Amino acid sequence: MDEPAILEAGRVLAGKGLVAFPTETVYGLGANGLDWEAAARIYAAKGRPSDNPLILHIASMEELFPLAAEIPAEAKILAEAFWPGPLTLIFKKTAIVPYGITGGLDTVAVRMPSHPVARRIIQAAGVPIAAPSANTSGRPSPTKALHVLEDLDGKVDMIVDGGTVGIGLESTIIDVSGGCPVILRPGYITEEMLFPLIGKAAFDAAVTGEAGADVRPRAPGMKYRHYAPKAEMTVFLGSPTQVCISIENALKQAAAEGRRAGVLCTEESERFYDAPVKKCAGRRNEPESVARSLYDVLRSFDKEQVDCIFSESFEETPLSGAIMNRLLKAAGYRTVKCNGV
Ligand code: AMP
Ligand code: MG
Repeated sequence: MDEPAILEAGRVLAGKGLVAFPTETVYGLGANGLDWEAAARIYAAKGRPSDNPLILHIASMEELFPLAAEIPAEAKILAEAFWPGPLTLIFKKTAIVPYGITGGLDTVAVRMPSHPVARRIIQAAGVPIAAPSANTSGRPSPTKALHVLEDLDGKVDMIVDGGTVGIGLESTIIDVSGGCPVILRPGYITEEMLFPLIGKAAFDAAVTGEAGADVRPRAPGMKYRHYAPKAEMTVFLGSPTQVCISIENALKQAAAEGRRAGVLCTEESERFYDAPVKKCAGRRNEPESVARSLYDVLRSFDKEQVDCIFSESFEETPLSGAIMNRLLKAAGYRTVKCNGV
């Protein structure tokens, strides 16, 4: 990335402009995070509900101190271990953080990304950058600049193209503002990685299932349907073999009913299906490849005019928690339990 483009992005952000830029997780839609009017433009461009708070992105530890009213011991341990990187921490906020970016909450979400372009842009702007994923609210997050263009062309001042992102799923979010750390969103930093540092972290109830109307999720984003392709999607739960058999049966039934079906599978299983549309989300035995390609695959079904999507599930590895969390949300929690589950 050339320096003039970085400096221009910094200038736009330091004003009230919107810049989409790559991070190691997904592309972010950035604005000055200490200026509620700039942040309001993010909500407008994405069509994002105003009670869904934004994450502030910083480039150095010193930038955290003016934002967080308290930095508990666990937060220091986690920041030291995983920053810069795909981890967001929730702190009690200070007065300089506008309620317009926290969805009215007294807490603030902060992350220090590791992507070199993101870091240089934040430094060039000289302010914390509020940056949710750079997609229309509800759609799969962008993992390449083309996805940002698909959703936000004409609604942002600048898009910085840094190629395809490395991780492909949003950051792990941990609330450290209360007594014990609570995982609000699973991500690339898994329970297994956290355990040696802070012991067993609890999951928020809304992570494990659909937040009911009576539950007030701590991460307000949890209550919204996310990452969704346009067609109805069903996730088949069970062993890979059972899932394969059940999806084949569902494909036959869809064909008999005249419905055009798509299958979300892996390179290992693709050859088993006789389907009008097949899309591989990487290789099952390389979970990182599934994470990296998942959103691209979900988006690509929209161009295939399918009536329904049958998806395999991913439950064998530490990264599965994050992958299944996104997949189940994309499916609106529509699942089929295959034999033996
Ligand atoms: P996005 O940047 O679009 O991936 O979404 C940001 C996520 O962080 C959303 O799920 C928010 O609900 C969550 N989040 C941001 N700030 C807070 C906060 N102060 N408390 C709880 N969750 C938050
Ligand atoms: Mg998002």
